[in-house]
Amino acid sequence: MNEMKTAIYPGSFDPVTLGHLDIIRRASVMFDRLIVAVMHNQNKQPMFSVRERMDFLRRTTEGLPNIEITSFGGLLADYAKQQGACAVVKGLRAVSDFEYEFQMALANRKLNPELDTVFLMTSAEYMYLSSSVVKDIAVHGGSVAGFVPDGIIQDIVRRTGKDG
Ligand code: ADP
Repeated sequence: MNEMKTAIYPGSFDPVTLGHLDIIRRASVMFDRLIVAVMHNQNKQPMFSVRERMDFLRRTTEGLPNIEITSFGGLLADYAKQQGACAVVKGLRAVSDFEYEFQMALANRKLNPELDTVFLMTSAEYMYLSSSVVKDIAVHGGSVAGFVPDGIIQDIVRRTGKDG
């Protein structure tokens, strides 16, 4: 029996937002080890490569000792087993997130009965915040300050070619 409690927080993180970081901080005190896993997702056309997204996460979680940044493709249930994780962490923003997440949680439990899903409610100030909102603002030349960590603002500005 492994005493160490590992959880996985999966997502696209394209790019990481203050909403994601809030969930990461809160989950990191609940588990001994938190794996933040960047998903390879063929369906979406990302703004940043998996490597860039992992780099942003690394730079912005530097002070947190029990975080690991990884990437994965394929089934989350299999990846969780491979990493010895007992839980998947998900953030919930609105009721609209719920139905899909509920379905995924039940499917994952069926695939890996040892895996539970833990939902953390968003902090009120990040309720409206998603990576897509950030990208929309950035491509139209708006400022993403206050939406993403300061350390990645320049990377976003450089990618969109707008100076926000
Ligand atoms: P998004 O593009 O919507 O930000 P991600 O796939 O990167 O999507 O999100 C990864 C996880 O983080 C999901 O569980 C999502 O519900 C959660 N999440 C994203 N933004 C927030 C937020 N502002 N507050 C709480 N949870 C969030």
